[in-house]
Amino acid sequence: MAAQETVDHKYVYDFSEGNKDLKDLLGGKGANLAEMTNLGLPVPPGFTITTEACQAYLATGREPDGLAGQIEAHLESLERAMGKRLGDPQDPLLVSVRSGAKFSMPGMMETVLNVGLNDQSVVGLSAQAGQNDRFAWDSYRRLIQMFGKTVCEVPGEEFEHALDEIKNAKGTHNDLDLDADDLRGLVDAYKKIFLKHTGREFPQQPREQLDLAIRAVFESWNAERAVLYRRQERIPADLGTAVNVVTMVFGNLGPDSGTGVAFTRDPASGAQGIYGDYLANAQGEDVVAGIRNTVPLNELERLDKKSYDELLGYMARLEEHYRDLCDIEFTIERGKLWMLQTRVGKRTAAAAFVIAGQLVDEGLIGLDEALHRVNGAQLAQLMFPRFQLDHEFEAVAKGIGASPGAASGTVVFTSARAVELAAEGKSVILVRRETNPDDLNGMIAAKGILTSRGGKTSHAAVVARGMGKTCVSGADEIEVNVPAKRFVVAGQTVNEGDVVSIDGTTGKVYLGEVPVMPSEVVQYFEGSLDAEHVDNALVRAVHRIMTHADGRRRLAVRTNADTGADAARARRFGAEGIGLCRTEHMFLGERRELVERLILARDADGREAALEALLPLQRADFVEIFREMDGLPVTVRLIDPPLHEFLPPLEQLAVNVAVAQERGEDVAKEEALLAAVRRMHEENPMLGLRGVRLGLVIPGLFAMQVRAIAEAAVACAREGRVAKPEIMVPLVGAVQELETVRAEAERIIAEVVGDSGVEVLIGTMIEVPRAALTAGQIAEAAEFFSFGTNDLTQMGWGFSRDDVEGAFFWRYLELGIFGISPFESIDRDGVGRLVRIASEEGRAARPGLKLGVCGEHGGDPDSVHFFHEVGLDYVSCSPFRVPVARLEAGRAVVETGGSDSR
Ligand code: ADP
Ligand code: MG
Ligand code: MG
Repeated sequence: MAAQETVDHKYVYDFSEGNKDLKDLLGGKGANLAEMTNLGLPVPPGFTITTEACQAYLATGREPDGLAGQIEAHLESLERAMGKRLGDPQDPLLVSVRSGAKFSMPGMMETVLNVGLNDQSVVGLSAQAGQNDRFAWDSYRRLIQMFGKTVCEVPGEEFEHALDEIKNAKGTHNDLDLDADDLRGLVDAYKKIFLKHTGREFPQQPREQLDLAIRAVFESWNAERAVLYRRQERIPADLGTAVNVVTMVFGNLGPDSGTGVAFTRDPASGAQGIYGDYLANAQGEDVVAGIRNTVPLNELERLDKKSYDELLGYMARLEEHYRDLCDIEFTIERGKLWMLQTRVGKRTAAAAFVIAGQLVDEGLIGLDEALHRVNGAQLAQLMFPRFQLDHEFEAVAKGIGASPGAASGTVVFTSARAVELAAEGKSVILVRRETNPDDLNGMIAAKGILTSRGGKTSHAAVVARGMGKTCVSGADEIEVNVPAKRFVVAGQTVNEGDVVSIDGTTGKVYLGEVPVMPSEVVQYFEGSLDAEHVDNALVRAVHRIMTHADGRRRLAVRTNADTGADAARARRFGAEGIGLCRTEHMFLGERRELVERLILARDADGREAALEALLPLQRADFVEIFREMDGLPVTVRLIDPPLHEFLPPLEQLAVNVAVAQERGEDVAKEEALLAAVRRMHEENPMLGLRGVRLGLVIPGLFAMQVRAIAEAAVACAREGRVAKPEIMVPLVGAVQELETVRAEAERIIAEVVGDSGVEVLIGTMIEVPRAALTAGQIAEAAEFFSFGTNDLTQMGWGFSRDDVEGAFFWRYLELGIFGISPFESIDRDGVGRLVRIASEEGRAARPGLKLGVCGEHGGDPDSVHFFHEVGLDYVSCSPFRVPVARLEAGRAVVETGGSDSR
């Protein structure tokens, strides 16, 4: 009878068994080490323990069955290949134990170097290195330090403190001045620290060191900072990390050894060339830790030409292979180059565009791929004004870039002071430890907000983004003292009244006023920089990729604009019409008086007189807009907000009336106004007499607007222009509402338009949930739908936007109830479902029904992809967002496999 065989699940992969596409299983680091190994690059041999092993460990609290045996087997074959045994007293094999998740989480998890060293093997290591005691003891003290800190949670400062003490005793700042005896002494000191904190001796068994280090890497996945980072970057919590066990190579063997990092292009600007830093006679993290001064990578050519040339060759190979900017970690051990890591490198927004353009030029990628590699958030970043940092300014702190922009201003510490100074016309930066709803007025008044605590989803961050205000959050080097009205940073005190500058993109904080320069990308969009002629790699790359996006996209992009000037600007930004022209501003200013007359009219005559006076003013507004949008559609929304918003506030009126009465003045008019305001007061104005309801209740109001629109269109036609008005009725919930408005509008349009050739469409907003759910009926009376996703979100969730964003959204984000505010990015499952239902049922009832969206979501990258998927005809957004929407609409096509989803 055959024995039952149990085949172990495979948890360990040799570098030669993996490849770059196995990031889920091997993590980014492991997958790329495997890829480099298979490319024939000199990677120290090793193996990777999978993320599945980590997940199993985290779920059960112990290593999964079979893992120990597989590690043993891979370790044995590594030992055979290297001709050494782990921790052998005569000639030890040493390894590093390195974390590496699917997504890079820089500095979040753990690495332990020099595993396998103990009191015996340190002697063997020295002998093998030609009696290099200094090197061997330096490696040993590093092991105890890293192992203590990451595996056993010994406070890192204690080790650093001991190191400083020895350096001080020697009168030096440079660790290279420490000799073998000093380092031996340091090992003793470190061991004592280890014993004190863990209650046990530093483990001497190499295999035990290895197992404990692997376990510590598993556990580092759930370290607090890693959890916070993942939440911030929206990395799923259950991926786990892989563990890489890599044969050690030594950059600390002497002056002909060293370690460095390199980029195949400049990750800041995208410029071609080799960038990086090198540090001779050093190990691992020394380069980035800043303990000694590194030299620029090109110095390596002088120090070690052979290794340098070899490195350049590999970098070129990697770029060609990955078809992208790569960043690299390498070590040189006595003139022999080793590659320790590579990945597709992070880059700034500008570099992303520039590099994508270059790679197209170099024939490495096509334009679709280039489009895929940039995004709307990056483009938006490039459209903000930037600080001009060429000289003297150095950041004093770095927090989280929570809401982009560049803001300088006077420091204030309270909301009240912010309001006061802003009223005097000053730019202020509100500085708080963290903000809360009481700070709202100050945040509105401030030019920028700086907090020392909290991340991308803190109250400050959420509210600032909602307001479009620059914000740096969580700049924890800053010590804020509100009662004393000052903060301390980098040893300097900044008092109320001093000026600071904050960069909401990079999170950097500067003292003093940093000059701001306009965005070149905006200049290009506005037409003042010509991409074909200007010597600016960024502008040329943006031009090229935008042109491609325009060629690819199916969604049209319109703009929200209420004036001729906005319309003209948006048109330069590429808007293909207006998706939302609000008419409410046309009732402000000196026209308020006419609105008052309209509201106070005692009879039809009085009302008609007021409307008649408003008609030519409105007509002139529309003429201006239609002229700018010659040939393109313009959706005009009939008046939406409640009329009492155009009247003075109740309290103010009441006081005026009382004062005037006291003086015995004639207050008949004020009293009438006051009575009207009282009568029209609403407990819940968002759900009150507004939108179509207003049009149905106040006779002649919508009729006047429709007439003004039609007359303006006819006037433009007479000038030889083409006006394409689309009249949009707001807040419709039932087809009967729309039918009533429509009947009157059609009559007026027919009368005005005559044989001028002008065509006017009539449609509705879909912003009340009932409208979405009865879209089939409503489509019978509408030639187009425009989704008002702000109100649809508001009424879909029952959130009053103005109240909830400031009051408790941060808490919802913290609790993970949603990952991003549904006002920022469309809630696909709920509000998005309403959009889907209405689109499908509307089109079923009326084939060819035009569908668009005019909420702020129209300019949000992720929402644009959703609207593409649903099959809308266009999105409409603020002028500034138009390029972002164009880009994302193109990306949506490329990312859904280039197919046209309709
Ligand atoms: P991180 O992900 O934080 O960069 P790494 O696992 O890459 O952590 O390792 C930290 C440092 O140690 C890096 O500089 C790396 O190059 C170096 N290092 C890792 N493994 C080895 C090794 N086997 N030999 C020499 N240096 C190593
Ligand atoms: Mg690394
Ligand atoms: Mg609305």
